[in-house]
Amino acid sequence: MSLLKSPHNWFDESFAHLAKLYSERRLPHALLLHGMPGIGKAGFAKYFAQYLLCQSPQPQGLCGSCKSCELNAAGSHPDLYLLEPEEKGKQLKVDQVRGLGEFIYSTAQQGGYRVVIINPADAMNIASANALLKMLEEPGSETVLLLVTSKMGQILPTIKSRCQHVDCASPDQSDAVAWLRSEIDIEEDEAVNILNINRGSPEEALRYIEEGLNEHRAQVIRGLADILKQRRTVIEVSQSWQKLDLEMVLGWVYSLLTDIARSSACADSSILRQKDAHNMLSAVAKKIDPVRIFKLADKVQEERRGIMLRQNPNKQLLLECLLLEWAALLK
Ligand SMILES: [Zn+2]
Repeated sequence: MSLLKSPHNWFDESFAHLAKLYSERRLPHALLLHGMPGIGKAGFAKYFAQYLLCQSPQPQGLCGSCKSCELNAAGSHPDLYLLEPEEKGKQLKVDQVRGLGEFIYSTAQQGGYRVVIINPADAMNIASANALLKMLEEPGSETVLLLVTSKMGQILPTIKSRCQHVDCASPDQSDAVAWLRSEIDIEEDEAVNILNINRGSPEEALRYIEEGLNEHRAQVIRGLADILKQRRTVIEVSQSWQKLDLEMVLGWVYSLLTDIARSSACADSSILRQKDAHNMLSAVAKKIDPVRIFKLADKVQEERRGIMLRQNPNKQLLLECLLLEWAALLK
């Protein structure tokens, strides 16, 4: 036996809870797994799906050696259905959801459960959510749907009310640091800094390292500093950011602003978390009223939410407006 435990230890509690319901045959047929982005919910959903398909599940995890576990390890279990947008960031089409019906109402090929993972569940529009609704109301027997989201606000109430909610906890810093260092060879201090930059999200921190996003980040910090020091204009800086991912830039700017506001409110620059911008942040924090910073941070967050809701703003204009307010902070 080669027992396979859940990939992230911060899901242990959720796993124990679900495994218990399963062993008592009280598992609901639809679960809505929600929590912060980038904490590994999709990986956990996949793991739990494999657990439901395992022919010899143990209280601590899946057996890792049965026929089902072998099929899952090969990524070819016929009773596992992964429903994702055709392109990352796009919506789940109504036809994709309808296609699910055939799978749900057929007989499991391996004789046990059929499991569907819908990720992200917030990518369903009203038409596709309505198509899913019928299946949630009358699921086939021995069928479990696992819906995954970081954006509960975007899940239709009719869907929400038909699922049991599983609140996925975020890792604490030491767990996140340990995981990141098990994935990639970095020093502890660096892991802490990168996690702080990525709002504590271990998967986003890993992506940040793997995709070399520190260069993009440096570009953002340099732009903000240049505006304050009047080395470049707002227009020049916003043009130089055109190729960067807007949601990511706004996320960084938001964390930088809240860092300044906290430090300014406590008159203590040692609490600044974003070490890579420490000098600029502490200089601004000393001169500024925290209320003004919070207001700007709220505005940035609001724009960011708009982008996450798939609104498509004029990037140049949006950046110029925000950067003009940034420039005005020290005037
Ligand atoms: Zn197994």
